[in-house]
Amino acid sequence: MPPRKATTTRRSRRAKKPGVTISDAIRLLTDEHGPFANEPRLDPAHELTFTILSQHTSDLNSERAFRTLMERFGTLESVAAADVDDIEEAISGGGLAKVKAPRIKTVLNQILELNDGSLDLTFLAEMPMDEARAWLRQLPGIGPKSAGIILSFSLGMPAMAVDTHIFRVSQRLGFIGPKVNADKAHEILEAAMPPEDVYPFHAALITHGRKVCKAQRPLCGACVVSYGCPARDENAIQEAAAAVSDTANVSVDSDRPDGQAPGRRRRGGKSASPTPVPHTQVVKELQP
Ligand code: SF4
Repeated sequence: MPPRKATTTRRSRRAKKPGVTISDAIRLLTDEHGPFANEPRLDPAHELTFTILSQHTSDLNSERAFRTLMERFGTLESVAAADVDDIEEAISGGGLAKVKAPRIKTVLNQILELNDGSLDLTFLAEMPMDEARAWLRQLPGIGPKSAGIILSFSLGMPAMAVDTHIFRVSQRLGFIGPKVNADKAHEILEAAMPPEDVYPFHAALITHGRKVCKAQRPLCGACVVSYGCPARDENAIQEAAAAVSDTANVSVDSDRPDGQAPGRRRRGGKSASPTPVPHTQVVKELQP
């Protein structure tokens, strides 16, 4: 008879399987946090510029920097022709201006070079998605996330864009393994769902990651997918369930696949206006 302890150890090291499917996660998280806005966004070259400005900074900072950049130069062609120092000054309110100014100038000039002197990238929408992604990724500083954002939000293609929130929630729910890196996560997640689910997945998980499944202290007691989450905090869930049972006029979830009711209030009703999706909430006034 094999040693019992060794078997137990092997089992405990296995990757935990998700107890919630991707489609259930989309449905439950959209019910909880949605509906999500799906506004038309910037054209691809402006989106690309905005994406560079949004790297490693807040939405507020990147929107401010984009606004001042466009106010200063008017067009991206003018930005491409400008001195790096002037670009840096224009985007100084957005953070990391010293890094982003030369990057923006280089990328815009490379597009002009590759695209017969034009910054119109709408031709990418006519290409197979993998080719369009490869075209974007040849540009300096454009990784899978930035390419995914441009393809998805600007061109309406079903490209996955995995930011830090989506990556974290996907790992906790077991949709990607613990050793998968961010680049690989794009491939795995994109292949794990039908194209029409890619944007709803992005919107649902990024919102959940910001509001509930936070990096430091996830609010598992308020999480609608806790029933199937291998990383859930049982104590938090039990505490929340106890609090709910003490509260009058609270209904429990009946639409969960396992029929259980972790401790959270069910929302009384959806808000009238759609929830803006982070990074897609660039206001229309920013559009040139
Ligand atoms: S149960 Fe906790 S760790 Fe799991 S998805 Fe919900 S908030 Fe995140």
